[in-house]
Amino acid sequence: MSSLVSGSNVYVVRCPICYQLNTPGLPKKHPACAMYHKSTEETTVTTTLPPPPSSATAPTPEFASSCSLSTSWTPVSLKRVTPYNHDTSIFTFSLSLNLPTCACLLVRAPDCEHGGGEAVRPYTPIAEREGEFDLLIKSYKQWGEVGQRNFRPPGAVSSYMFGLRAGAKVDFKHIKFNLKIPYNLSHKGYGFEGVKTITMIAVGVGIAPMIQTLNSILEGETEDITQVVLMLGNRSVKDIILKEKLDAWESTKSNFKVIHHVGTRYAGIVSHKNTCPKSCRAPCKFWVSQVPERWSELAEDRRERTWINQTSIEKYAFKPSGDTRVFVCGLPSVYEALCGVRGTPLSADSALGRLGYDEKAVVKF
Ligand SMILES: Cc1cc2nc3c(=O)[nH]c(=O)nc-3n(C[C@H](O)[C@H](O)[C@H](O)COP(=O)(O)OP(=O)(O)OC[C@H]3O[C@@H](n4cnc5c(N)ncnc54)[C@H](O)[C@@H]3O)c2cc1C
Repeated sequence: MSSLVSGSNVYVVRCPICYQLNTPGLPKKHPACAMYHKSTEETTVTTTLPPPPSSATAPTPEFASSCSLSTSWTPVSLKRVTPYNHDTSIFTFSLSLNLPTCACLLVRAPDCEHGGGEAVRPYTPIAEREGEFDLLIKSYKQWGEVGQRNFRPPGAVSSYMFGLRAGAKVDFKHIKFNLKIPYNLSHKGYGFEGVKTITMIAVGVGIAPMIQTLNSILEGETEDITQVVLMLGNRSVKDIILKEKLDAWESTKSNFKVIHHVGTRYAGIVSHKNTCPKSCRAPCKFWVSQVPERWSELAEDRRERTWINQTSIEKYAFKPSGDTRVFVCGLPSVYEALCGVRGTPLSADSALGRLGYDEKAVVKF
């Protein structure tokens, strides 16, 4: 988190990991990123900025890339909302975007942050057309009851988005931090020259930036024979987003395969039910491992009943080498377990670090 000082004015920008404001009084560990947040002391950067422009001179917009959205908040009209599955919808906005491959946008939801203030989150468009672009957004509903240990409040920005109707304006911006290393054969100089294999690790909506890359590899104008394995994690089969698109690619493109992981990080751990008698000791004789609903819809050699973990990465990912890359995208806990906090170098004490991948090989979206 950095605070930018101009004369006597203090502009506070957001933590790049949790996107929350450094609001006085807020604990160093923000609720949404409690495990990851660096203390203000560790990360505060003080920079002298020119004074803010007077109201007479309109500021010149700055652009971080070819994207038509500037680095300042810009309202864009919501054209329509198309339900996609039980908890995900496609939000179509009226703007020609021209976003570079793998880049994302920031969305602002006023007065929606847990604990107060505006909530800001990144989203990667899944499609762009002349005059419009699509965001595929998952709704995070409340889980459990207030005061209970497993309570989870409704998602701040996703709830805001799901409350909107066509015609509403949503604030977007696109800053340099949103410009991920683009995988695209036409982009030279990003370290992808000579790369022969890519392992994509995506959990839930973390599929969004992978779709952009896959479009570029599998549907691009230049033939790209890079081999890709997508390790995709979801809580249930019904949560798998864009499955029909992935299935179509699998059946037509010989350089692409997807391995579905269905479950949670707790799958496979023997635990006790509330109804277990006191005498029950691990391994629990009352524990019954459930076959996930619609499990049979996934091909036998393309499915795992587990959270994506070190063992499954070792089994399915391309081995560490100079000509392989691993792309990772998901919620904060995914980065923490598999490669270390988003926005920081690869952690040696993470699944990918322990398996011998190096910093250059791992791309955190
Ligand atoms: C590069 C990138 C691209 C992305 N692209 C997409 C995309 O295309 N589509 C998409 O849907 N998402 C995408 N995401 C994820 C997105 O940015 C948000 O993280 C997601 O929408 C959830 O945000 P939210 O504000 O709705 O939920 P949040 O408010 O951030 O909450 C997220 C989860 O944490 C829980 N939580 C929050 N606070 C607490 C607390 N105090 N105690 C316990 N639990 C808590 C909530 O209950 C919820 O389950 C992307 C993320 C990245 C990094």
